[in-house]
Amino acid sequence: MSESLEQAKKEIATLRNQLNEYNYQYYVLDDPTVPDAVYDRDMQALIALEKTYPELRSVNSPSQKVGGEALSSFEQVTHEVPMLSLDNAFDEASLLAFEKRLKDRLKDTATLHFSCEPKLDGLAVSILYENGQLVRAATRGDGQVGENITANVRTIANVPLTLRGEGLPSRVEVRGEVFMPRDGFVKLNEHQRQSGGKVFANPRNAAAGSLRQLDSKITAKRPLMFYAYSLGVVQPDSVELPDTHSARLHKLASWGLPLCPDIDVAEGGNGCLDYYNRILNVRDNLPYDIDGVVFKVNAITLQQSLGFVARAPRWAIAQKFPAQEEVTTLLDVEFQVGRTGAITPVARLEPVFVGGVTVSNATLHNQDEIHRLGVKVGDTVVIRRAGDVIPQVVSVLESKRTGDEADIAFPSQCPVCGSQVEKLEDEAVARCTGGLICAAQRKQALKHFASRKAFDIDGLGDKLVDQLVDADLVHSPADFFTLSLSNLIGLERMAEKSATKLLSSLETAKKTTLAKFLYALGIREVGEATASNLAMHFETLEAIRSASLEALVEVQDVGEVVATHIFNFFNEQHNTEVLEALLREGITWPTIEKPSEGNLPLEGKTCVITGTLSEMGRSDAKARLQLLGAKVAGSVSKNTDFLVAGEKAGSKLTKAQELGVEVWDETALVSFLAQHE
Ligand code: NAD
Repeated sequence: MSESLEQAKKEIATLRNQLNEYNYQYYVLDDPTVPDAVYDRDMQALIALEKTYPELRSVNSPSQKVGGEALSSFEQVTHEVPMLSLDNAFDEASLLAFEKRLKDRLKDTATLHFSCEPKLDGLAVSILYENGQLVRAATRGDGQVGENITANVRTIANVPLTLRGEGLPSRVEVRGEVFMPRDGFVKLNEHQRQSGGKVFANPRNAAAGSLRQLDSKITAKRPLMFYAYSLGVVQPDSVELPDTHSARLHKLASWGLPLCPDIDVAEGGNGCLDYYNRILNVRDNLPYDIDGVVFKVNAITLQQSLGFVARAPRWAIAQKFPAQEEVTTLLDVEFQVGRTGAITPVARLEPVFVGGVTVSNATLHNQDEIHRLGVKVGDTVVIRRAGDVIPQVVSVLESKRTGDEADIAFPSQCPVCGSQVEKLEDEAVARCTGGLICAAQRKQALKHFASRKAFDIDGLGDKLVDQLVDADLVHSPADFFTLSLSNLIGLERMAEKSATKLLSSLETAKKTTLAKFLYALGIREVGEATASNLAMHFETLEAIRSASLEALVEVQDVGEVVATHIFNFFNEQHNTEVLEALLREGITWPTIEKPSEGNLPLEGKTCVITGTLSEMGRSDAKARLQLLGAKVAGSVSKNTDFLVAGEKAGSKLTKAQELGVEVWDETALVSFLAQHE
């Protein structure tokens, strides 16, 4: 045997062992230890080696197998038609090569049409209906034999137990994905953290762990959903079905089965690439996690002539998106002090490309999270960055430990001002007790005061606030308004022109609204909406300052905890001084004229906000619409009166259009607010 063949044999054996182990952890235990990106790289390396050395191929190689074995604790189900996997494309060239392969094989150069579907990141299930009744549901397992999970699938709210509509076959097997929508995943993990249960690394693991439960009562409590994407067995053979995959999906919908709202049909490989880019653009705004898109030759006759290879159909391909999870090294942990003194451990990382950007910091949340993860400095860690969410450390690869890793010591004194760090028993967060003595807290409080949703002081960015505090020019917000040209000139990047401009924006900012003023004060847990509610309820600052706890809980959305924060804030001597100083500097706002009850222009209307609004944040839009009487809901339904759709709006917009719900773009919103506020 030649040396390179010998070498390849060794590498192949190592990769197969490693991939078998990953498969076992992922498919059988629902507890993967490495991100998909690591698995995919190893699999691609194995496939490449097996291609170069065909003599080393084996039917038992993980490259030839589907999924993992069915757990014996479940009753086993043999699939009448195997449930296969999908081939993958990781870039444009391999997608176009797929199209070419199809044409070559079909010996036809005519344009192909494809059904285009988001690749939902959950797990495949088969649901069998007999005479319209759900009789059995199973996991994919190894493609031949799956697990009987009928009782669990029955608990999924959008899976019909009885089909409806015309032309139902007497036996029909529907295939699709069970997944956990993102908001449900976040809530589940919050609950798991509080109750000391297992925290899931991502929505896919949460879905798999929830569905493969021996006790269906647990599954019933988990926010799972199902979207159908294909048919398995259909009997009798004489049942007439549409001749394209996409039309068959709509047939399934007519029987009451839920479909992903973002599916489409495209012409040719280039049409597929457009779809890929369109979905990639809205990926972060979708309510569910996807790891790519799937393209399926739409004509059923062509699918039949193309057929299958060992583990996948020839007529379909999954084009993967950039990974949202990667591995890297945790180099150090720093402790940041926030506006309310909260101390957040931040992981400094060996820079890694994940979720489309290079990440070098990730949050470790708090001390409990460090304990839960068992993470140490020097560890190899899994980082997740999905959408705009701050990158997180999700797990530690303990197998990579060398023994040189160091424990993370949580500081007992504030790293900025040296004050005692305090952790209340029922709070996860540790706080610096230094208050405004602490330069870090002071800086954050001042940055918040100057920020866009608060006093909106043009030209007063974070770096400048740092400089002003470091130069001892600003101690409390009122000091901003006493700054002079001579104070400013000489600070870094501050020439006369920019200093004059800043002084003029400070002058302009003095005219504000009571709601913004309250928000700017940075009272704990008083965000924009609560600040608006307080302003509307009490109408004057004096009334709020002298309000009792009982009076404060009368305000919409203010509970006892928030009321206590507000009450304590206004009864603290230091804060009174800050308020008086601000008023002395001439901060003013228009008198609030409360529209009489029942007269609000959006009274009784329900709306939903989606996409990116460029002129105001979504929370600002929400607070302003609420002030005009609207109820702002999280999802579109037939009860929605209108949808505000900003840039990059995704499935909510599609749904609103399907339901015929009125859609406002940002311009329409801005002009409505201008007329009615
Ligand atoms: P796959 O995920 O590449 O594709 C097949 C699966 O896609 C189907 O079974 C189905 O569940 C899903 N799917 C979603 N939307 C679909 C749609 N519209 N139409 C058809 N199918 C759709 O293949 P696989 O065999 O399920 O899993 C392999 C992948 O799983 C790997 O690429 C890797 O990312 C991940 N994995 C990770 C580990 C790990 O340790 N991290 C281990 C094993 C597998």
